[in-house]
Amino acid sequence: MSDCGCEKAKANLYELLRGELCAEESAPIREHLENCPGCRDEETVCIRLTEVVRRACEEERENCAPEDLRDAILRGLRVES
Ligand SMILES: [Zn+2]
Repeated sequence: MSDCGCEKAKANLYELLRGELCAEESAPIREHLENCPGCRDEETVCIRLTEVVRRACEEERENCAPEDLRDAILRGLRVES
């Protein structure tokens, strides 16, 4: 288990998914993922986590978007005048 590259693959998984590794670094890890179901599972979990976090960030931005706030204020002003 320890000499199959799992540790290296898992240690670099987030960087790989974020595209922070250069081709030279990511190639052996991608190759390992293709041949290691355990690390592929780990990759799937990482992808889901990354997506959940990204979606949460987007929702957060929508909820407190300056444009929305400005529109709401403008609407309020129009109603008043
Ligand atoms: Zn592995």
